[in-house]
Amino acid sequence: MLLLALILVGAALIVVVRRLQAHRQAVAALRDALVARRALLREDLPGSLGPCWDELCGTAGELVAEVNRLDRQHSGQLAQLEATLGALQEAVLLIDAHNYVLLANPAFHAIFPKAGRILGERLELALHSDAFLRHVAAVREGKGRPREEIEFVDSRGSTWLEVTGSPVAALGGERGALLFVLHDITRQKRLENVRKDFVANVSHELRTPLAVIKGYVETLVDSHDTMPLADRDKFLKTIQRHADRLNSLLEDLLVLSRLESAQHGLARERVDLGRLLHDALEDFRARPESAGHRLSLSVDEAVPPILADPLKLGQVVDNLVVNALKYTPAGSRIAISARIRDADTVELAVRDDGPGIPESDLPHIFERFYRVEKGRAREKGGTGLGLSIVKHIVQLHGGKVWAESKPGAGTTFFLTLPISAAKKAAPASSATPAS
Ligand code: ADP
Repeated sequence: MLLLALILVGAALIVVVRRLQAHRQAVAALRDALVARRALLREDLPGSLGPCWDELCGTAGELVAEVNRLDRQHSGQLAQLEATLGALQEAVLLIDAHNYVLLANPAFHAIFPKAGRILGERLELALHSDAFLRHVAAVREGKGRPREEIEFVDSRGSTWLEVTGSPVAALGGERGALLFVLHDITRQKRLENVRKDFVANVSHELRTPLAVIKGYVETLVDSHDTMPLADRDKFLKTIQRHADRLNSLLEDLLVLSRLESAQHGLARERVDLGRLLHDALEDFRARPESAGHRLSLSVDEAVPPILADPLKLGQVVDNLVVNALKYTPAGSRIAISARIRDADTVELAVRDDGPGIPESDLPHIFERFYRVEKGRAREKGGTGLGLSIVKHIVQLHGGKVWAESKPGAGTTFFLTLPISAAKKAAPASSATPAS
């Protein structure tokens, strides 16, 4: 009896263990099918399972089919979006509810070449910009400003972007996706800064002479009757000096603004450089400020006529020689020369043996309002605009200008001008239209 009972219990145990194994196999098969997103067929399962597994297989199959359908729809929409946004000039970025990147168009990659394989990356890791992440969070909360200007800084420098972000309502099964349109405004920002700097510089330059003139005029008005004649004379001369400075500044500003205006080109004609330099030198020799200096001219005979604007070229020579006179002590030598540099180019040089320009200042002297020794240059009546006018005119002619200097050993300003156009040009008398 006991033996029979033991046999029955043993048989029951075997059945239970087999059932358990079958269920375990079925669960593993179901898991594999769900991971692979395919339907689980009844035939894939051991036969000994109950009817509840039929139901489970059916429901799992429907679920997988729905997920696959949504997935296809989603990828289809993304592909469609990608194709549409790919052609846009604006950079576009699409992220999901957890800030993972779903899409970035080619314009985006052009702005952020270092972002590399951004697709599928978390935004926090792909773009290191706290300001942009704050904007993303604000857009998510519905508090984002419609347009925000954000600066992105990396090893290449800074890039300014105007960012517009908005939630995307229907993107397949994707909830909480956000779309950002990024417009590169770095150039505008730079121009804006240049303009701000320029206005600040001009105001600063105007303020000093105006303040001096105002102060002296007020003193003259107040003490007109009591002031000794000698003092009055001194005051008036100071006013005159500062008025002259204001005048030079406004004249230089006008020249620069004319040079920069798009309509204003060059009145080019065939120019005999030797003649132009010779006339300029004669003018200088007649001026009192060059009395203590030794001026010389050497023009290579082979230098051909060039096609240039003689008035503007004259202004270039004038600015360079005036500087050489201003910044070298009496008795210094100033040598002007012209030679053929190569088949297409002539080179002009204005060399002095004055104190020279420190190496650290050399790269900046052609910038507007840049002066090496600010106080001294102002004292000498400099506006800080002379060399930027020179650079502008030379560049309009298609040439280059640079300076070489060693402190204590003088400075040489070189400029190159193309000659090829003049060779083909009409005879000397015929002026050509502005370039
Ligand atoms: P500025 O009107 O002050 O002369 P520029 O633009 O003509 O302005 O020149 C810029 C600065 O370059 C000057 O302030 C001066 O310090 C320096 N510089 C120009 N030419 C010479 C030169 N030949 N020798 C020494 N320094 C010079």
